Amino acid sequence: MKDYQSKNPYNGDILETYSKDTESDINAKLDKALAVETSWANIPIAERCELLTKVADLLLDRKEEYAELITKEMGKPISQSIAEIKKCAWACDFYALNAEDLLADELIATDADESFISNDPLGCILAIMPWNYPFWQVIRFAAPTLTAGNTALLKHAQNVTGCSIALEKLFLDAGYPEGCFQSIKAEHEEIEKLIAHNGIKAITLTGSEKAGKSIARTAGENLKKTVLELGGNNACIVWEDADLKKHMDTMVNARMQNTGQSCIAAKRFIVCEGIYDSFLEQFTEKVKALIIGDPMQKDTFIGVMAREDLAKTLQEQIDASIKKGAIVTLGNKRDGTFFSPTILTNVTVDMPVFEEETFGPVAAIIKAKDRKEAIEMAANSRLGLGSMLFTEDIDGAMNVISDIPDGGFFVNDMVKSDPRLPFGGTKASGYGRELSREGILEFVNKKTVYIK
Ligand code: NAP
Repeated sequence: MKDYQSKNPYNGDILETYSKDTESDINAKLDKALAVETSWANIPIAERCELLTKVADLLLDRKEEYAELITKEMGKPISQSIAEIKKCAWACDFYALNAEDLLADELIATDADESFISNDPLGCILAIMPWNYPFWQVIRFAAPTLTAGNTALLKHAQNVTGCSIALEKLFLDAGYPEGCFQSIKAEHEEIEKLIAHNGIKAITLTGSEKAGKSIARTAGENLKKTVLELGGNNACIVWEDADLKKHMDTMVNARMQNTGQSCIAAKRFIVCEGIYDSFLEQFTEKVKALIIGDPMQKDTFIGVMAREDLAKTLQEQIDASIKKGAIVTLGNKRDGTFFSPTILTNVTVDMPVFEEETFGPVAAIIKAKDRKEAIEMAANSRLGLGSMLFTEDIDGAMNVISDIPDGGFFVNDMVKSDPRLPFGGTKASGYGRELSREGILEFVNKKTVYIK
């Protein structure tokens, strides 16, 4: 049987080898989830919230341990791994505080004596998650979904199996009943069977477009609901009146954090002609100053990419864009999993670095003749996760909200997730929402109750 290997992408060390779950292991876990389903759904929400507070406390107590695991398994610089764990604790605290209100019956006046929506749990939800934020992607789904009274099976990306196991233990240590949250080590074919199983009520996937199509196809054949959080090709639009000094750190962070491996990263910088030269000069200066090095060092900002094949794919996208006329202004040096922060200029709409998602530290810079053209170029994407606009003209920004067909539009800040706000995409970036009220209501049966 095939085993999973966790390998440190920075130095190639084998961290651990895990045996894959057999079909009967997976079925036994599903049985466990089904066995606890009714009792878990029936305990008061306030008790589920108390458990979630305990998860938040444990996350903070163990932040160094979890951060080290993240960094070793996928190469994220350690300070950013710690920030990821703190954000997980924030999301847990948010739902622990607000879930009762968010899930409360919604009274609706009709000709009945009483009519309302009851937000009932669905049952066992299958979560398929990626490696890039190995704790955050899971917690932002699990905190609301478990608190709504569902149970969960987690199929994590193979290269972060250690994180997957640590997450299962986290919920057990916090006092969740056995079977509420379990991690499985399953191949794609086994996931297909699991989706078809009556015990699985819905599926959430955070991952690539390719995975989204495959999971949605299988779920559709079995009439199961899906939430899909897929890729992004976010535009960072810079109008000619932007305050570059004030916002340049944010713009650099928007592209380079997590060594560029973020769905919501700014990937296409669309800059108005009038400010283009100063933007490029300041952006290049800041990117050059980023500290590159061992991801375990506290001040490292750029580490390595999570796998060598990802670095190779990025290289192919850059090479193909250079063939079409893109100019390397900075970087474009690859060595194994390392990819130096790269800036490409002279980018046009027909190049891979404009058309496709680039999952690594490369900024594609595009010149727009005016504000209108900048907005049109931003909207010109198969993907629709989010866009950001930098300008001092807030009225002007308000006027273009409806021209941006994305799940999010951020003015003078980077696109980011926040437990208080809904998060999700349009077009090939997927559908459904996570976080906030919308997120906790994705996996409930909105039951209509009518009493006369
Ligand atoms: P990926 O290859 O799609 O993998 C994501 C997860 O899906 C992994 O657990 C993977 O398992 C699983 N998977 C893939 N194909 C599957 C199939 N046919 N059946 C069952 N499971 C399947 O994506 P990735 O390269 O790890 O992650 C990067 C992508 O995720 C990027 O496109 C990024 O933009 C997107 N992403 C989106 C968001 C968002 O919130 N919208 C957030 C983060 C990342 P294995 O490891 O076993 O293959």
